[in-house]
Amino acid sequence: MIDINFKNISIESIDLPVGGKRKLSVSVLRADLLHPIISGNKWFKLRFYIEQAKTFSAIATFGGAYSNHMVATAAACNMYGLKGICIVRGEEPSVYSPSLLQAKALGMQLIFVSRKDFEGKEVIKQAYRSKNWFWINEGGYGIEGANGASTLHDYINPHNTHIICATGTGTTFAGLIKKALPHQTVIGINVLKGNTSIINEINNLLTKEEQLKKYSMLHEYHFGGYAKHPKELIDFMNLFWKATSIPSDIVYTGKLFYAVNHLVAQDFFTEHSKLIVIHSGGLQGNYSLPNGILHF
Ligand SMILES: *Cc1c(COP(=O)(O)O)cnc(C)c1O
Repeated sequence: MIDINFKNISIESIDLPVGGKRKLSVSVLRADLLHPIISGNKWFKLRFYIEQAKTFSAIATFGGAYSNHMVATAAACNMYGLKGICIVRGEEPSVYSPSLLQAKALGMQLIFVSRKDFEGKEVIKQAYRSKNWFWINEGGYGIEGANGASTLHDYINPHNTHIICATGTGTTFAGLIKKALPHQTVIGINVLKGNTSIINEINNLLTKEEQLKKYSMLHEYHFGGYAKHPKELIDFMNLFWKATSIPSDIVYTGKLFYAVNHLVAQDFFTEHSKLIVIHSGGLQGNYSLPNGILHF
């Protein structure tokens, strides 16, 4: 049974591994503590979709074999007694990934489609149109997803000047922009390579007024692309663990903390800035690594 406790979420003040004393403060919003498997931000993105879905016969969504969103959706459905379905990219593998096993164990129905067919999401939806399923986009992308993620901002201290998060679809980032106060800048660390058009997808989730808020997306911290994890990243994750006792993952938050450390080292932020970094979870992404590589 899935046990989610919002009281587990806390804020920790940290010292970055970067050398030298800088006159700024860094804290981490530990949304990862919500649950060991369900990424903190995924849960927030889903919360309003789930409410809308209650009158439908099932919730259906899309994801790859390693999708954190798939597992979070499976968990949410399990908790609320809803049937969960995921259209999975690629043929059914002979050995299931940890995420597929988890989703299945939570009662999710998995429907495997070829990579080519997966690209035609509207065609897939049409094929099941008689089913009365509530569809959620891949990654939870959408305005309701952003509204759900915006409630993460309720945990953030108003004195924070910079809110920094990892971005995949940008839905969490958009949600944080929605609630950002006038003196707060939201910074997204893009973990994908070469998808600079993501900023258009984010603007589609924001009103004209929200688009005038202070935010920027940094594209230099992908480490070669989605889920790529060269030694430099792994070494940093171990260093970060040693300095802070906070675990991170190779897909999202390792890159996020690396970026924050690197930006601080370069004096990107003005003195007295108060940074809050969103630990969105995703630690199960490390299961694909051989044992012993990470020190946590
Ligand atoms: C999915 C995910 C993200 C990215 O969230 P988006 O809203 O898609 O940008 C960040 N961190 C973790 C741990 C995730 O699982």
